Parts: sequence; C-alpha cells; structure tokens
Amino acid sequence: MSKYTLVGLTTFFALVGTGSPAGAEIRAVERPSTDAGNDLYVGNRPPLAASPFMKLPVGAIEPQGWVRKQLELQADGFHGHLTEISRFLAKEGNAWLSPAGEGQHGWEEPPYWLKGFSNCGYILRDQRMIAESKIWIEAALASQKQDGWFGPDKGRKGAATKLQGREDLWPNMIMLFCLQNYHEFTGDERVIELMTNYMKYLTTVPEDRFLVGYWPRMRGGDLLYSVYWLYNRTGDKFLLDLAKKVHRHTAAWEKDVINWHNVNMSQGFGQPATYYMQSQDRNHLEAAERNWRKIRNMYGQVPGGMFGGDENCRPGFTGPRQAVETCGMVEMMLSHEILLTINGDAKWADRCEDVAFNSLPAAFTPDLKALHYLTAPNMILCDRHTKSPGLQNGGPMLHFNPHIHRCCQHNTGHGWPYYAAHLWLATPGNGLAAVMYAPSRVIAKVGNGIKISILQETKYPFDEDISFSVTASRPVQFPLYLRVPGWCENPKLSINGAATSVEAGPRSYIMIDRKWSDGDKVGLKLPMEIKLREWTQNGGSVSVDRGPLTYSLKIGERYVREGGTDVWPAWEIHPTTAWNYGLVLNDSEPASSFSLVRKDWPDNNQPFETDAAPIELRARAKKIPAWQKDHLGLVGKLQPSPAKSSDPTEDVTLIPMGCARLRISAFPTIGSGAGAHEWKEPPKSLPATASHCWAGDSVAALSDKLVPKSSNDHSIQRMTWWPHKGTTEWVQYDFKKPKRIAAASVYWFDDTGKGGCRIPKSWQLRYKKGNDWTDIVAAGSYGVEKDRFNSVRFEPVQTTALRLEVVLQPEFSAGILEWRVDTVR
Ligand SMILES: [Zn+2]
Repeated sequence: MSKYTLVGLTTFFALVGTGSPAGAEIRAVERPSTDAGNDLYVGNRPPLAASPFMKLPVGAIEPQGWVRKQLELQADGFHGHLTEISRFLAKEGNAWLSPAGEGQHGWEEPPYWLKGFSNCGYILRDQRMIAESKIWIEAALASQKQDGWFGPDKGRKGAATKLQGREDLWPNMIMLFCLQNYHEFTGDERVIELMTNYMKYLTTVPEDRFLVGYWPRMRGGDLLYSVYWLYNRTGDKFLLDLAKKVHRHTAAWEKDVINWHNVNMSQGFGQPATYYMQSQDRNHLEAAERNWRKIRNMYGQVPGGMFGGDENCRPGFTGPRQAVETCGMVEMMLSHEILLTINGDAKWADRCEDVAFNSLPAAFTPDLKALHYLTAPNMILCDRHTKSPGLQNGGPMLHFNPHIHRCCQHNTGHGWPYYAAHLWLATPGNGLAAVMYAPSRVIAKVGNGIKISILQETKYPFDEDISFSVTASRPVQFPLYLRVPGWCENPKLSINGAATSVEAGPRSYIMIDRKWSDGDKVGLKLPMEIKLREWTQNGGSVSVDRGPLTYSLKIGERYVREGGTDVWPAWEIHPTTAWNYGLVLNDSEPASSFSLVRKDWPDNNQPFETDAAPIELRARAKKIPAWQKDHLGLVGKLQPSPAKSSDPTEDVTLIPMGCARLRISAFPTIGSGAGAHEWKEPPKSLPATASHCWAGDSVAALSDKLVPKSSNDHSIQRMTWWPHKGTTEWVQYDFKKPKRIAAASVYWFDDTGKGGCRIPKSWQLRYKKGNDWTDIVAAGSYGVEKDRFNSVRFEPVQTTALRLEVVLQPEFSAGILEWRVDTVR
C-alpha cells in the first residue's frame, strides 16, 4: 500500500505501570479477556462466542461537543424533517402504519428513515422525535398477524420487489433494528414478543422461499444479527437453528466478496463474522478481514476509509475520483461497530473513525440540510449534471439536494446516531471501554452494579488530548479500557495528574483496573504525527494523514442555489480557487514538508466546514496546468507521479478532508529529471452539436478517442438521440479553420436487450458549402453494421462543418459511440 506507512499492526507491549495505587493494575491488552463476563449488560449467551464488548443501551451515552452538534443539526436538518419532504413518509395510506399492512410505500424507505430518526431522538431525548417515532413503532407492533408476520402485507406477497408471492424479508430486517433501539431505550417487552413470534414465523417459511430475492439474500447478515440480539435476551434455542437457516440462505460472503454493489459490500462483508459467534469457525471470522482487504486492495487505494463503488465497483475505475454512496458509508460504519463488539480488535474502531471523520461529513452540507448520493476523495465540482459513465450512476448524483437520492435520503440518518451510541462499550469484568473518542458522557453500571458516569472532554479527532472525569456515589472497582489507535505509537497516560509508564503499542487497549472514586481523572494523550501514504496502484499519488484525519487541499467553495424549495433548498458547489496542484515534498523526510496551524474552535461547534476547520496544514505545491476537469466536470484522471511542473512553487493550505466538500486528498507529487512524468493533456473533443441529445449523454463522446468494445459498450460515454424514435436527426462538427476531409467512420451504439437504441435505418454525410449543405457521395456504401467502425471514403471536400444525418428505424432511437473524421492536406 505505502512505502511511507510505518504503522505496526501487531506489535504491542505490556508493562505493569508504576505509580499506580495498591490493588491497581495497568497494562496493555490486545482486547478485553472474555474469561469474566458482564452481568450488567447483555452480551453473547452460550453457546455463542463470549463477547469482548457489549453495546450499551441507547441513551447510556450522551454525546457532547461536535458529535452532539452533528445530531442536533441532523434533527434540525432534512433527516429530522423528512416527513415534510419525502412522499414515502406520507402517513395517509402508508402501509407501515396500516394494521392490515395495506397501502403504499411498504418497502425500505420508512424503516430506513426511522432507524436513524428514532435513534437520534432517543440520544438527544428530543420529545418531538420520540413522539413521532412512537407512531411508527406502535404501528409496527400492531401489525403482527396471527402467524407472526408483521409489517406491510404487500411485502409478504413480494409485490414491492417482484418476488412474486414470496416473502420480501429485506424491509422487515430494517424495522427489526428500529424495534431493538426502541426496546433498549424503553424496555418495552412487546418488542421481545413481536420478534419472537416473527422469528417463529420465519422457521415455517419453506427453504425454497426463504431469503429469496437479490436484496434479502445479500443482506441476510442484518437478519442474522437480529436473531442473535433476541437469543441473547431470551435464550430461546429455536433461534440458533433459525440462525443457521439464515446463514445458509445468505449470499456466501464467507467464500469471497460475493457482490460488488457498494451498499451490499458495506453491509455484507462482515456477515461471516456475525455467524462466527455461533460457528466459532475462525474461517468465518477471518473472512470479514479477507473481504475488507480485497475490497480495499482492488478499489480502495484511496483515502477516506471507503472505496470506489459509484453504484457498483467497476474494473478499471479505481482512482480517487471514483465515489461511493452515502448509504455505503453509514453501513460500513455500522458493520465496523458490530465487528468491534464481536472480536474486539481495535482496527474496527480505527476503520470506523476513518469513514466517520473523513468521508461522512462531506456527504452532507455543513448544516445537514441537504445531502448528495456520491462522494469521492477527489472531487472538484458538485453540480447537478450527470457524471456517467465517469461515475457509473447517471443523473444528479453530486447535487446537494434533500428532495432526491431516495435510499440515502432516508437511510443515512443512522450514521451519526449509531456512531455516538458506540463511543463507549461495556466490557467483561463489569467494566467500560472508550473505544472511539469524542466528547461525551457515559452513564452506566459497573463493578458490583453501581451506576457511575464518566465525562470525556476532548476535541479529538482535531486534538491529541482526552480527559476523563469519574463521578461515583462511592468507590467502585472496575476495569476501564482505553483504545490505542493503529496510528498511535506512543500514548501517554496519567491518573489524577501522575504520569504512568504503561507502554501500549498501536491497535491495543490500555486497561486500568482499579478502585475508582468520585473525582478521579484520567488524562490520555495520543500523539499525532504527520504521515504520508503512497497509493502505488494509483500512479504513486500520496495522501497526508495526521492521526485519524486525512487532509485535502483547501478549495474555495461557492454555493449556488439550484432547485429545491425556499425552505429546503438544493445546492451546487463550484470551486473558486485552483485545485490542480501537485505536492512538493522533501524527499528525505516527506512529513517535514508540512507545518501545522491551529485555529480557533468554531463558535457553532461544527468543525466540518471549509472555513471552520480548527486545524490546517501548510504545504508547498505547484500547479500542473495540464491537469484539468474532463468534459463531464469530473476531476481529470491522475497520471503517474512524480509529475513535472514549470509553474512556481506556492504555499497552499490543507484542511481535514471531512471539512472539504470540494477536495483533492490523493495528490500527485512534483518531481524533475528523468524519473518525472510530463502530464499529458487529455485529447480535446471537437466542437459538436446535434439535432437532439439525451440529457444523460453528451456530444463530446463523439470525438473522445475512446474506442468501444462493442456497440453495446456501456462503459464509455455516448451520444444518443433518445427518446426520439423513427425521426431524421443529425450531429455536426464545426471547424475553426476549413479542413480538407476525405474519409469518416462511425461506431453505432445499439443497446438491444437493454434499451431502445438500434443502428439507424440509413445515414448520409453532408458538408457545408457556402450557406448550404451538400451531400457527400461515398466511394462505397454508408454502412450500418454493429460492433465496428463503418468507414466511408470520398473525393476530398474543403469545409468548415461536417454533418452526419441519420434516418432512425421506426419505433427505435439511435446513438453514436465514436465518429472519426480523416483530414488530408
Ligand atoms: Zn443510498
């Protein structure tokens, strides 16, 4: 991955601390020992593998500072008001609110939204949100049928997803998460009853109809998690057999990355580890890591903790301009949080923080009043225009618009609440662990069962210092675990002001087992060093990290109102400053190329904004003039580093990439001499016009020099006259100076089997002579064959414009992948 990354993955040291009071033990551990259990919070019940961590019930953790601010902004933002924006949440006729399960919108959107909305409300103790959530929870509870099914009956018949009479188990998987959160917050036993009845129902679904359909099969891991959640509370043995059945019918993620849809990958890669709790087969546990690494090796050689899957991962589309869906980010975070409780490895916390700090904030506007669908590590324009096929998904995927982006619009509200709910976990030995650092207070039972609170004060991830203050009604013995992140070589610990000599290596936990008293204070310093990662598979580009944050070039952002409503506006973001910089690095010691600048903490507590970033880096850079945006408005593809530049060296500012909606976070480097690369300007398309061009296509495709693999090649851009059918249409090149042309060839687009474009009935070239168009008589015929260039030769013509006129087949449209023109002297 990188020649600069020096972070050890397995080394850690354990030393008994000095200066600790009698009866106290301080040492580093790889994860909490599961020899002891926790009799205060629910962990795995035998025969499931003992839990190294137990999730605390929603409400036990009160986020503060910047994290609380994200939840408050979300509550005030589009997600907290989505019932006013989304038609899927209209109560009138909503199948999720119908006792009979009849009506509209009975698929994933309402439970997707409720999962984040209710959790956000519980954590903030926001009465409006709690009351609104209750309406949907009560309806779900009331919808259970005699046989155990609950939720929209339409889902059972499969009409929502064309399952043709077979149960669509996917939307119910999401509602089960909502019910669990509600139970954790309220203790309402009706949830246990509903889930038990529903799980019994699932045991009766015949094997050939169980978990069928694309989404249910890919995402069966979510159902499996809920089966274990219930088993750990009831101990009903039938649930273990049901779990085996769920695993049997879930896509075989234990064999490989089974599917390349970004959200399925984010939800599914860890499924085998969830099943490991029952199978206790190491292969199942290791499969999650294998999948994680395979995804990162193939598509994740970029900063931000995610990978390029814009909608799916595509071979050849592996650079930092490839994007990932916002749903992918929040599901990846939740998977990491679950994996952390399954095997306790601190790497899952590191990885969760990476996504949370570096990717997720940039998927929303800083006020969380709008979101977009796709976010990339390098993106220099977020407008409403399609970026397909540069990004796989066509349409306004980069447009910050609270009214669209359907799945993300509803689903992504669970990112911050689940993150906040996993900052602290319970541990074996009736202890507590601070596993992800952020300002917060945990109120939980420890030791012999007394309730204490610990206040965590910090500006992490923007600062290295974290302090913990204990409030307890009487002294109590329990272990407190503090995570040492993988990037941290040398953490410093103090207890009540006295330094301790514990040596904990990266990716471990410091365990402090002692009798804690009211007013006890722990200080933790996690020194953050500037490090570089080199992406050898992406041209030797580099990313700059300091602690858990990765840095982006600071690019001026101009918000342009484009659509939406006055109450819920939509925005494009355009750059106001240059972005095409390569970094000038000090070769012998690259990290010394940067200097740190601390700035004031933002008054409004929202640091994830370009100008609010409380920390910046200064760097030296040179512009690479030939590095430009392409005709789609995407940042030009990276070329090999080091790159040559004869521009002057400039001082530039880097900000945390989570603060940057426009961002360059995988940089070319600048070099000179024989090893340096001359950045090539991408071929320019000829100025072209058309009688009509479909909004998702472009006339620039005609001369983009990309040779199609076939007429049905969807991987490159095309020009089509869609949806015009059976008409006479044209495309035209205009030349600045007259050209002498003697031949031309055209590669037709034809999506038989997928769409409505076919090779045209006939075509004809014309050239401009004075103000008139004159037919060109070809030496042979004007060919209409698929999967090849159809070439024509003719007596040379001198002209300033060439037109290609087509007659479309009746009932069909047509399109062109490439149109070449040969000039002669
Ligand atoms: Zn989505």
